[in-house]
Amino acid sequence: MPPAEILIARSSIAARVRALASALSTAYASTAQPPVLISVLQGSALFTADLMRSIAIDMAVDFISISSYAHSGSHSGVVKIVKDVEIDLSDRDVVIVEDIVDTGLTLNYLRRSLTERGPHSLRTITLLDKTVRRLVPVPVEFVGFEIPDVFVVGYGLDFQGRYRNVGDILVVRDLARLVNEPDLLVGSLWPRRGQRRQPT
Ligand code: 5GP
Repeated sequence: MPPAEILIARSSIAARVRALASALSTAYASTAQPPVLISVLQGSALFTADLMRSIAIDMAVDFISISSYAHSGSHSGVVKIVKDVEIDLSDRDVVIVEDIVDTGLTLNYLRRSLTERGPHSLRTITLLDKTVRRLVPVPVEFVGFEIPDVFVVGYGLDFQGRYRNVGDILVVRDLARLVNEPDLLVGSLWPRRGQRRQPT
């Protein structure tokens, strides 16, 4: 069995992203000011770039970077803003752009933080939604794909900073093995590099 397999192929992602962009273009066609997309780095970088290109109305984009509780090993939902947005969000129509909503803790924190800045509206778009894993109820207005409780990489989503540049979304079959062997997927994704890395 391969260590990872395609869950959502790049052609399906592209079609869904275009549909989401069309939905956003319609929803924000007549707002007083152009909507502000807030891309949550680093996972949603690819999604944001593709989404923006297909949005057919005037819009602004800004970026926020957070250090997730997931990386600090606790599950308290404590998240710290590492890089904040620069646009003044008061009275703006704000759209948080997420790669994946899992427990909902990160998004819950982000929504609370951004609400304090007095936006006219605040909604969220996520490419992937693991609703079965939700610990806190949090509104997500635009969803690309609902996925089961699996670990995915690709299309911006990483494992220890790797695999973000894979065009498809892959499901990792054996996460414990990947933890021990972070190069596990390299051989099947990029065979030449995989060969080079093998011990001689
Ligand atoms: P939360 O649990 O707060 O909703 O999600 C926190 C973060 O966990 C997400 O932004 C994402 O970075 C990470 N995450 C959750 N599920 C996955 C997954 O299946 N793959 C990857 N690469 N990251 C995930």
